[in-house]
Amino acid sequence: MNPYQKNGLYIHVPFCRTKCPYCGFYSIASTSLISRWLEALKKEVVYYKDRFEYFDSLYLGGGTPTLLSTRDLEKIMQHLFAHFDFVPNTEFTIEANPGDLTSDKADGLKAMGFNRVNLGVQSFNPQELLFLGRSHTGEEAESALKTLRASGFENVGIDLIYGLDGQSLKGWINTLNRTLTFQPEHISCYQLTFEKQTPFWNMRKKGMITPIGEKEERSFFLTTSRFLEEKGYIHYEISNFAREKIYYSHHNYKYWYHVPYLGLGPSAHSFQNKTRWWNFRSIRRYCEALEEHKAPVEGHEDLTNNQMRLESIALGLRTRDGFAIKETDLESQSGDILSRLQISGFLTIKKDRIVPTRKGFLVADHLPLCFQ
Ligand code: SF4
Repeated sequence: MNPYQKNGLYIHVPFCRTKCPYCGFYSIASTSLISRWLEALKKEVVYYKDRFEYFDSLYLGGGTPTLLSTRDLEKIMQHLFAHFDFVPNTEFTIEANPGDLTSDKADGLKAMGFNRVNLGVQSFNPQELLFLGRSHTGEEAESALKTLRASGFENVGIDLIYGLDGQSLKGWINTLNRTLTFQPEHISCYQLTFEKQTPFWNMRKKGMITPIGEKEERSFFLTTSRFLEEKGYIHYEISNFAREKIYYSHHNYKYWYHVPYLGLGPSAHSFQNKTRWWNFRSIRRYCEALEEHKAPVEGHEDLTNNQMRLESIALGLRTRDGFAIKETDLESQSGDILSRLQISGFLTIKKDRIVPTRKGFLVADHLPLCFQ
């Protein structure tokens, strides 16, 4: 089911211009440690150079990778090419902040091998961008999209956030319409969530922000799915839409289908041979470990066959491809549950796979409990 079977490589760039108040990803709002992090990253690459054969995706995320200078990004790419093997047609993605994309920067990214850019637009509406604490404007996002096309990028993704306090469905559709004028190959629509230890988490606790209710959540989700599908996009994962199958995120398939991936940088996660491990979150601890010639690994877990099976079901229920029927025990209770979920319109069966419907996507977080 997954055409992207080679290893995936993720690099976490832990620097941002400012911290957005909703963001739970690890990053620091300072550039003072870039050189030290870069040296540590190079050591980490060398540490893993013989442990993963061939990659078919690279994802430079964060954080804000485009905060790095073109020269530093080139150094990273050269180091990766010197120590890792990438198959032909590898997907090389970089996450970009609209405010960083000058023509020179975009040309530089193309020249160093990136063939896909994921742009953190989030919204085109000035009030919404202000609420989200974003450092760019809607006009800058539009200009960045034009710049990327002018530099020859034929695979561009746009990240958007919906479900903001006070946002109307009409306003959200305006954002989608404005997005569609650029015909991006990929669109990610994330509902605003409240991550622990973020300013938004505290503001919600104090009643300063009101999250949208369940009914509104459903309405935003279903409207988005129908709207983008009517415009020709494939709703291939809960939050992700692609103009064609070839534009599905190759890299995310690693996470959804237990394909091995290597994550480098602070807080990055890796997976290989049923073992998952993760790096120190703190950039200082990460750098110190590598400076002492140690792996910057904070912890690991070994998955049992049953955990692997349950994860396959949980992850499959988030994608249009679903999961293999063989993962369930149709002879026992799960067969009965399956029929009921089919009758209720949450799941369908396609050949040898169980596939969530649009309504199933809405409850994907709860459905795995039915198959335990
Ligand atoms: S949302 Fe992006 S730009 Fe904002 S703090 Fe998080 S990683 Fe940085």
